[in-house]
Amino acid sequence: MFCFQCQETSRNEGCTVKGGCGKPEETADLQDLLIYVCKGISIYGEKLKGKATIDKDAGRFVCESLFNTIANVARDDDVIIDRIKQAFRVRNAVREKLGADAFGDLPDFAT
Ligand code: SF4
Repeated sequence: MFCFQCQETSRNEGCTVKGGCGKPEETADLQDLLIYVCKGISIYGEKLKGKATIDKDAGRFVCESLFNTIANVARDDDVIIDRIKQAFRVRNAVREKLGADAFGDLPDFAT
């Protein structure tokens, strides 16, 4: 177990035995993965912004995902897994808008 997703983290370093908020390890790991995919969305989103285009739907998705990782908000692992799958679809959609400007091909885990 390691989670340092909030300001209540143990000793200001990380909850390592069990979440101080009661969050189990599996949930913390899934939320970390969701944030990781959202970082990918953001990388493509920033590149898209450089082309004077903003994907508001992707931005809203990232904001909602961040909210889903707040302690005591979303503890249903199945909901988080669905959101991770959706995140890959959002990431791919933003990447497609970049077309040839996207950097390289990334694996499609959403299917
Ligand atoms: S979200 Fe819960 S498990 Fe994670 S750092 Fe905060 S108190 Fe610890």
